[in-house]
Amino acid sequence: MKVPLIKTKLPGPRAQAIIEKDRQYTAPAYGRVYPLVMKQGRGMVVEDVDENLFLDFMAGIAVANTGHSHPRVVQAIEEQARKFLHICGSDFYYEPMMELAEKLSQLAPGTGTKKIFFTNSGTETVEAAFKLARFATRRQHVIAFDGAFHGRTMGALSLTASRSSHRAQFSPLVPGVHHAPYAFCHRCPYHLNYGSCEIGCVSYLEKVLFRYQVTPQEVAAIFVEPIQGEGGYIVPPAEYLGMLQDLCRRYGILLVADEIQSGFGRTGKMFACEHWGIEPDILCAGKGIASGMPLGAMIARSEISTWTPGTHGSTFGGNPVACAAALASIAVIEAGLLHNATEVGAYLMDKLNELKNKHAVIGDVRGLGLMIGVEFVRADGSGTPDGSLRDKVMRNCFEKGLLLLGCGESTLRLCPPLIVTREESTTAVEIFDAAISELA
Ligand code: PLP
Repeated sequence: MKVPLIKTKLPGPRAQAIIEKDRQYTAPAYGRVYPLVMKQGRGMVVEDVDENLFLDFMAGIAVANTGHSHPRVVQAIEEQARKFLHICGSDFYYEPMMELAEKLSQLAPGTGTKKIFFTNSGTETVEAAFKLARFATRRQHVIAFDGAFHGRTMGALSLTASRSSHRAQFSPLVPGVHHAPYAFCHRCPYHLNYGSCEIGCVSYLEKVLFRYQVTPQEVAAIFVEPIQGEGGYIVPPAEYLGMLQDLCRRYGILLVADEIQSGFGRTGKMFACEHWGIEPDILCAGKGIASGMPLGAMIARSEISTWTPGTHGSTFGGNPVACAAALASIAVIEAGLLHNATEVGAYLMDKLNELKNKHAVIGDVRGLGLMIGVEFVRADGSGTPDGSLRDKVMRNCFEKGLLLLGCGESTLRLCPPLIVTREESTTAVEIFDAAISELA
């Protein structure tokens, strides 16, 4: 089977009819990216309703980590669905939820045991972390970072600061949230240089935030994405997370790692924190946890999981079918996908760096494993981000049959299923190269 294979002008006639209906009946809040109307998927391939075949390098926003409809995951879903669909895990018990909790407790970074709270999504996971942080510490304030994306419900949105349009007209948000610049060395918000900066983005918290805005004794938690996702696929410098953890421990502040996008093998380790030997007090998981079934998990160190029965709950969180899908997904990831993400990720990164040398409009290539961002800049050498060119390249790739997604101001992310091969990566880079050459 040749992939990609584009047979119609995009969107094709069937896709157009569905998009027309969608326009009439779905909420205009959805910010649709390009007119992809999916009919089915298998592994790395997405087929649309007009029988066009696309090579998927976005995995439904870093979710389909085991590929589309992995047979083992589908089998687990079918088997559980035949037994029962629901009983409410907040109120009663069932084996898949207990088994998954045990597995996540073992997988999460650090040695101690963990307590898991299950949700249906990333944003609900962050809500749970926010609530537990306040409950456990009896402190009210929290810190998050510019560029962060933690979700869109009111609590999580209060932490999110990746685009002001996400927050516009929704104020007042939850009080007590403070934002600080993130560790983005390529475009340092403090205009410092890595090597001589002494990681000023951590010391800023003590020198500025704790001095002028909030005492550290009032701060319940610092929420951080170990690699910023929606903000632009930004990998912080090696010292950053360790220093943040030290600072948290010094003041009794909980470190909350939002691994919703970076988790479940995406970076070549089960969780990105492991690259830096970090042990967060709370780890938020979602997206790739169940290969596309709606599930999130808040993984907290047992000692801080002090909340009492009834303080939090959910009708659907930890749904048995989703838990079965997660157990199967984790088994598939453990059976070789971490290695593949590291190996193919390094290959892809090399290929993209070759493109950077060829195209002046590529300002930066960054990432870990299969979480890779390519930043677009103006060709005039000024380094000015070029979001409009990024959007055009993404659309051109779509029309050539390669699915990509933007993030940050002018970055395209490559976050394929972790089953991707070198050959598929070569094909993707060739299409990417052609799309840029046509436009730049
Ligand atoms: N946290 C991070 C790091 C994310 O990338 C996302 C989604 O992109 C979320 C939280 C929110 O997840 P959800 O869309 O499942 O609510």
